Amino acid sequence: MQILASSTFILLSSIGYFQHAGASGPLLDIQHLLRPESTSSSPTQHHPKHASNPKTSDKSYAPWAHKPHCIYPQTAPNKRERFCVHTYHRQYGPSISIIGKPEMATDLLPKLDEDPLSIFLTPTQASEYLTTPRKYDVRPIPGKGIGVIATQKIPQYSTFMFDQASIVVDLEPDEKKSAPEYGRLLHLAVGQLREPVVVRNLSTANDERGLRKRGAELEGDVMETNSFATKVEDAQTKALFPLVSRINHACNPNAFVMFSPSGVSIGIKAYHDILPGEEITISYLFLGLPTLRRHERLEKWGFKCTCPLCSASPNARFASDTRRIRIEEAEKEIIDLWRDGQIQAAIRVAEEAVELMKEEDLTPMLTDEYMMLARLHMLRQEIEESEDYAAMTAEILKNLGFLGPEPDMGEWGLEKMLEAYGEGVIYRA
Ligand SMILES: [Zn+2]
Repeated sequence: MQILASSTFILLSSIGYFQHAGASGPLLDIQHLLRPESTSSSPTQHHPKHASNPKTSDKSYAPWAHKPHCIYPQTAPNKRERFCVHTYHRQYGPSISIIGKPEMATDLLPKLDEDPLSIFLTPTQASEYLTTPRKYDVRPIPGKGIGVIATQKIPQYSTFMFDQASIVVDLEPDEKKSAPEYGRLLHLAVGQLREPVVVRNLSTANDERGLRKRGAELEGDVMETNSFATKVEDAQTKALFPLVSRINHACNPNAFVMFSPSGVSIGIKAYHDILPGEEITISYLFLGLPTLRRHERLEKWGFKCTCPLCSASPNARFASDTRRIRIEEAEKEIIDLWRDGQIQAAIRVAEEAVELMKEEDLTPMLTDEYMMLARLHMLRQEIEESEDYAAMTAEILKNLGFLGPEPDMGEWGLEKMLEAYGEGVIYRA
């Protein structure tokens, strides 16, 4: 008998499955984003229409805006492998530079002009979005650098903000990013964009002499602290989304990021109603971690989290941590009980975890727990309960947008849900 289960893993892998069913989609691995520090922002607008710059564009390399620049990195595992910079000026949207193997750029090309609105919204929602003022503003926030503030009410589960990648870096060469050659590629990649300043303004980091970093050093810093880990064309990449990288972190965020199947577009969706004046936040971390572990992981962004969860009273924080630790323990307990054949006891523990997740407002994690309950009830031949839990999971996934903008809920019955989650929770006798 073999059980493979880990709450976070299941959550992430299953959401990846749902979002990209069958396709080689990116993971919902909100590995990071950063804390923007610059006060001289020039945030990208929705669908900005840029005039092509004749000085920097060269038609002879069409569809690329510049002659692709390639190197054979000394540090690459295969010395004969080329890594190149390909820059593309989107027709409607910011330009993008891709650093990686030439095949990646070629494969990605047909997707570079994808319209995020048509991916994340229904046609009705898209036309409403285009005809109403945007619901947020990018501006300085006292003590936090730049942030994003709601200027109008943003309804729960609505997708209200979109962005397209400006830089995509295949992580293979990036792992060797200390190599000066990588710095030069990145510097070229940024320089070839129509608006390099949009990328460069994301950092005001100083070097060891207290001077503002410049050139490749600054650009490397921007990628280090602002990019998302995502999967593009089966390659693990770092992708930079300049607008979305202005959103600050909160451990209990009011919004979250969704990737398009190609990985080059993202949409921001509200977990809750967000009121005018409220800061829009996403989590740079997996949900559900207790305070100490959150803070350890946030160290890499060099800031001390002052989100409502972290600045709650010691008692409230202790209560929250206790619940979160109990949720983690429950996962293991459920598996052990399952292994022992104590299904009824496993169900009780899972039900307890559900209540704790609700108290901690960890809605996405509920999908996992509900599917666990669906399986446990199946083992007891309690098909009705099992179907109910599968339906509850499907409902959350629908609300969170992981079944697409217009899902056919008739399709997402118990069988399909079990199949979808099969990758995450495998029980073999
Ligand atoms: Zn926090």
